[in-house]
Amino acid sequence: MDRRMNEQELISSFDEALTEKHIFVMYQPKINHVTGRMVGAEALMRWRNPEYGMQYPSEFIPVLENNNLIYRADIFVFEQICAMLRKRLDEKKNIVPISFNMSRVDIYNTNYVDEIENIRKKYRIPVKFLRVEITESSAVGGIELISNVLDKLHELGYIVEMDDFGSGYSSLNVLKDLPVDIIKLDMRFLSGDIGGRGGTIISSVVQMSKWLNTPVIAEGVETIEQADYMKSIGCKYIQGYLYSKPITEEEFLDKLDSMGHEPVGPAMDLISTMDAGKFWNPESLETLIFNNYVGGAAIFVYHKDGHAEILRVNEKYIKEVGMNQTELEILRSDTWACFDEKNKEIFVKTLEKAIASRDEETCETWRHLYSDCCGEDEICVRSFVRMIGNAEDQYIFYAMVQNITNEKKLYEELYNSERRFRFASEQINAYAWEVDLATRVMKPCFRCMRDLNLPPVVRNYPEPAIESGIFPADYADMYRDWMRQLEEGVGTIEGIIPLTAGRIPFHVRYTTEFDENGKPFKAYGSAALVVDGEDGNPDNSTDSE
Ligand code: C2E
Ligand code: CA
Ligand code: CA
Repeated sequence: MDRRMNEQELISSFDEALTEKHIFVMYQPKINHVTGRMVGAEALMRWRNPEYGMQYPSEFIPVLENNNLIYRADIFVFEQICAMLRKRLDEKKNIVPISFNMSRVDIYNTNYVDEIENIRKKYRIPVKFLRVEITESSAVGGIELISNVLDKLHELGYIVEMDDFGSGYSSLNVLKDLPVDIIKLDMRFLSGDIGGRGGTIISSVVQMSKWLNTPVIAEGVETIEQADYMKSIGCKYIQGYLYSKPITEEEFLDKLDSMGHEPVGPAMDLISTMDAGKFWNPESLETLIFNNYVGGAAIFVYHKDGHAEILRVNEKYIKEVGMNQTELEILRSDTWACFDEKNKEIFVKTLEKAIASRDEETCETWRHLYSDCCGEDEICVRSFVRMIGNAEDQYIFYAMVQNITNEKKLYEELYNSERRFRFASEQINAYAWEVDLATRVMKPCFRCMRDLNLPPVVRNYPEPAIESGIFPADYADMYRDWMRQLEEGVGTIEGIIPLTAGRIPFHVRYTTEFDENGKPFKAYGSAALVVDGEDGNPDNSTDSE
């Protein structure tokens, strides 16, 4: 019957375990859940003691690590793998890349990489069939140490997988500091609740991995629901009891023969203008630009089904539109929550346009914000969006934002005051208008529009008014000269002009408004019917209405 061996027993029987192959390797396949083909396998160490039976890694590996024996065990496993691969290559049979576990203790052994290289060469195994799994905890001894080992492995051509991703607190930081090629996301660390917070973490890791162009393998997948969920968020590589428990070499090779195999593909095509890796490096130019030079900016994923999620925002984004939320709060909140239907539609249309044009597109949307500290607010945001990458039905966007609420409100105020002006002239018995002296744009009051059939905006003033006969031809040059005088800064001009085909005498007056530099920019005009005695033409002196 199996009995757990104690530390002393493990240590004293270790040498014999290696020579007698009590320590051996089992293999667990990694599968593409979409095609059902094998994409690789992980080598897992086993120890069967003739007297005490099966011993489990969770128990004996810490003992080996603490007693400086793990190095020899790991090298032994590596050699077993190479021997297996050599046999397969000689038989000219299919093989998939085999991942082996590198203990965090191995990192301190300066011979480790040289030693596995010697073995690999001895067995003449192309490096592409071997992959290293390192854990987040490898970074505990300092990023520098593990980085050096990684660089060495990369130079030699090994693909490196980040094991147990999601188990540590510093996952995201480790990821941006360590240039790994594949992420292994352990479902067991997110125990069960893929509908809730765990799911959010998983899907943001998957999204982020796409942004980093790093494929994700989900491990510890036990149910079809988990596998389907992972597939639905864009992670199709699966390792776990669902497909296979760790199996013996013989079983594994049979499975490989029957199953078919394929390589692990890249996560997504990033449009080349942006280097995602650099983006995560806190010292890179890209990060510097993102944080300091671009104003408010965000990176988000947009799914074809309409679902969207923010991946990163910079400090200025928070200042512009974040209402004092933290980056984390923004990332966790529902992206569409602050949009009403109409504004969401505007935004989505702009995204679709940007996907089609591959160019920058812009829109203005109102958003309803809420935060614990600042309460509720309605803001208007101008966004410039550009697609920077895509994978299957997901698109990565870069967005620059400007809070234009004040600008909008000012415009509204202006618009309203203009309306007031137009209404006011309705109350007095006169026609009124204004002329922008720089652009020669004239805006008439409602009465002008109605009685004289003028549009709300008249360009190239006063020519259209002369053409239509409001100002008679014999007064045209005089009136043009008034305009010149107003432009030159004459504060007021007035005179009597017979208007329209009926040549009805009106008292026309102009008052100019000057800007802070004393330059005239607007002239306000009015025309009132000439009243009795004002000129020698008393017949037309009655009120017009
Ligand atoms: P690991 O590298 O995370 O390996 C995956 C572990 O999850 C394996 O446990 C595997 O049997 C188990 N597993 C796989 N799919 C499922 C699943 O669907 N559900 C559940 N509940 N478990 C699943 P194992 O073989 O007991 O290994 C435990 C750990 O021991 C490994 O975790 C690894 O850290 C370490 N280890 C195993 N082999 C080696 C080795 O050759 N060298 C070193 N240094 N460490 C090793
Ligand atoms: Ca592993
Ligand atoms: Ca793992």
